Parts: sequence; C-alpha cells; structure tokens
Amino acid sequence: MAIRTPVIAGNWKMNTDVVSGLELAREILEQSDGITGVEKIVCPPFVALAGISELLGGSSVHVGAQNVSANENGAYTGEISTSMLEGLVSHVIVGHSERRALYNETSADVAAKAAAVVSAGLIPILCVGEALEIRQAGNAISFVADQLESSLAGYTAWESLIVAYEPVWAIGTGEAATSEQAQEMTAVCREVIRKLAPNAADSVRVLYGGSVNSGNIDELLEQPDIDGALVGGASLKADEFSKLITAAGSA
Ligand code: PEP
Repeated sequence: MAIRTPVIAGNWKMNTDVVSGLELAREILEQSDGITGVEKIVCPPFVALAGISELLGGSSVHVGAQNVSANENGAYTGEISTSMLEGLVSHVIVGHSERRALYNETSADVAAKAAAVVSAGLIPILCVGEALEIRQAGNAISFVADQLESSLAGYTAWESLIVAYEPVWAIGTGEAATSEQAQEMTAVCREVIRKLAPNAADSVRVLYGGSVNSGNIDELLEQPDIDGALVGGASLKADEFSKLITAAGSA
C-alpha cells in the first residue's frame, strides 16, 4: 500500500484582510516551518493571495485558493480564472459545501472546476459531504458516493488530487464527526476512487473536515483512511493550526 503524506489544509473562508492575512500567514510559517512529514496548505481570500504567496514562496507552507471559475478569461464579472491563479497558488478548493449550498454549485460544476484546475497545473482539493437530514435518513453513504463520483466525472489527473469528506452538519458547529463516522466515510470515498481509477485509490489523500481541533485531531489521524484534515475555524489561529500540523507531522 502506498505511503500517503498527511495534509493539513486551512480554509480561511471570508475572514482576514490583506494586512491581517499576511500576519496570520507569517505566524503560521514561524510556528510550523520546521515541522516535516506533513503537507501544509493555507487557503486565504483572493485579495490576500499575492502578498501571502510572496511571503510563503519557497517555504514549506503551500498556498491554495478557496474557489475558481471553470471558465477561461472573459466576460464573467467578479470571477477569478485559473490562469489568474498561476504563480500564486498550488492548490484550489472546489465543491466546498458552502459553495454548493449558498451558490448552487452542482457536482457537474465542481467537475468542470476540477478539470480547469488540473489544466492549469494546479491540484484540486475536492470536497463532498452530506447534510444532517441525509445522514438521519440513513443515506449518507450512497449520497456521498454519488456526489463524489459525479464531481469526478471525466477526471483523469489521479496523481494530483486531494479529496475532503466534510459532513455539512459538522462544519463550523463544534460537533465533529466521530472518528468511526469519519473513517467509514473516508473509506467510502476511497472505494469510489478505486472504482474509477483502481491504481490511484491507495495514493490519493482523503481528508476529513468539520470542527477539527487540537483535541480531536489525533484520534482522527489514527484512522487508516484519514490522511489529514481540511480545517476552517481552527486555521484562523496560528498556534491552534500549528498544533494540527504538529500532530499530523508526527502521526
Ligand atoms: C471547512 O469550512 O472546510 C471546515 C471544515 O470548517 P470548520 O473546521 O470550522 O468546521
């Protein structure tokens, strides 16, 4: 079985500004640059990417975007294309549940974005996850399997893919999934990848996301199919985020 380097990725969402974002990135770099055996990624808001990318360039902390347009440059007011991100980021989050729920992004949209990301030589962090009603109805496994399969329609760049299982009910609620639930669902994600690309399943990193913090990270990382975390709230505090990086580095 392939050895998968764990990933700790921070999704800052619509928080920080140019100045405070740069300061947060500087603190994260100071506290975590020396930690090895883990891939570190921060995903700041678009306006902070240029400064943060300059600050972190050549360091062990990678920079990602939180979203991107599937379209090339042109008449798409307010959108950001992959070509605008080249040189600034190495990763792009696609299909975050907030984008799916608040901006009506479908899995077909997510598949198109993932393809655009790969065409630009960047790595997608592709998110899937069920809402509470779906879990309560007992349909979490089939929902997430279908959502991941359709979000990966036409995908071929298996060597550069990160998947994040993020149950909607656990995001920003302080109610993380149990490590058993997270393991069950990340294993489902890996089986979907195995069906689509048998040779890639053991090397694609599958992350868990949803109220991860320094109190629950160790148990999550002990699970065989969890290769790290996509982190919202806890990524906005350099010391807490660095604790997650430390836990993954020594996991
Ligand atoms: C997220 O937004 O991807 C996330 C997991 O948020 P939080 O860690 O705050 O639950």
